Amino acid sequence: MRENIRNLAPYSTARDEYQGGEIGIFIDANENPYDNGYNRYPDPHQKQLKARIAQIKGIEPQRIFIGNGSDEPIDLLFRVFCEPKVQNAVAIAPSYGMYKVAAATNDVPLREVQLEADFSLDVDKLLNATDENTRLIWICSPNNPSGNLFPAETVEKILRNFHGMVVLDEAYIDFADRPGFLSRLDEFPNLVILQTLSKAWGMAGLRLGLAFAREEVIETLSRVKYPYNINVVTQKLVLERLENPIDDQVREIVSERRKLAEEMTRLPLIKKVFPSDANFLLIRVDDPRGVYNRLIEAGIIVRDRSRIRGCEGCLRVSIGTPAENERVLDVLKSLDA
Ligand SMILES: *Cc1c(COP(=O)(O)O)cnc(C)c1O
Repeated sequence: MRENIRNLAPYSTARDEYQGGEIGIFIDANENPYDNGYNRYPDPHQKQLKARIAQIKGIEPQRIFIGNGSDEPIDLLFRVFCEPKVQNAVAIAPSYGMYKVAAATNDVPLREVQLEADFSLDVDKLLNATDENTRLIWICSPNNPSGNLFPAETVEKILRNFHGMVVLDEAYIDFADRPGFLSRLDEFPNLVILQTLSKAWGMAGLRLGLAFAREEVIETLSRVKYPYNINVVTQKLVLERLENPIDDQVREIVSERRKLAEEMTRLPLIKKVFPSDANFLLIRVDDPRGVYNRLIEAGIIVRDRSRIRGCEGCLRVSIGTPAENERVLDVLKSLDA
């Protein structure tokens, strides 16, 4: 941890100082006293929300950090662990673009270690990219944009052989057919797991990202965050929506992914459908820009990843509703004809 962060005294909110109940005359925060549903500041510690997420995830609330999307813990991890210009981080590539943006914003050099052609990860190559100034390793599994889940042994080997923090981004873990690392947090003091409500939980618009780690790390992230990072509306709506189970939707998306992958494999236009444990498929074609444009003409927007090293010729296609997937297939078939 950076020394200035270790010594940081957080902003003390009005509601930190008052530890009583809910009933009373609140004239401690210069709020407007007239109730309109939003006149009060939100709970800076998100106690209710953490209690519910703790239940759902089977983990103690003290090991949960809630951020304004995953973007927030991604940025905070650089700020907490890496001295700008001096200390560095290592990430796999191709992977999620935010690691690079957050590293650059914080003036932290990010060393990218290229995945193999099949998107597998050579752990020795990754570890060789670290030096005595490396504080963070970023692993995304299932990886975006490739879609593959790394074997547990791969992640374990990194955790055991690197003495800084390992951030494991599990944004897509709900779509994978093997479990992630959340239940194994105890085994690895240097593990931070990121998850999000933006994908399987269907709450991208509410902005809620999660970090799980040992208590000391969570306590530090909480000290550095903006005090009221999760607004009243998000806290309330997320609590409500967490009561709607997502199992059926996730099952359907996974079954649609399998179906779509199978059908796409049969199209001559598509040279390769990469195996996916996420809610998207990475496909390789000869003319990615051409296919992209033809899809746009049909009102279908996919992500062109073809200019990214390792993803040459590739488009990333999210799994939609069955009707949407059907339409995508029809258009792709018509391009083949
Ligand atoms: C979509 C995604 C996220 C989620 O970001 P939010 O800010 O929580 O919406 C995190 N990591 C990866 C790799 C993603 O693809």
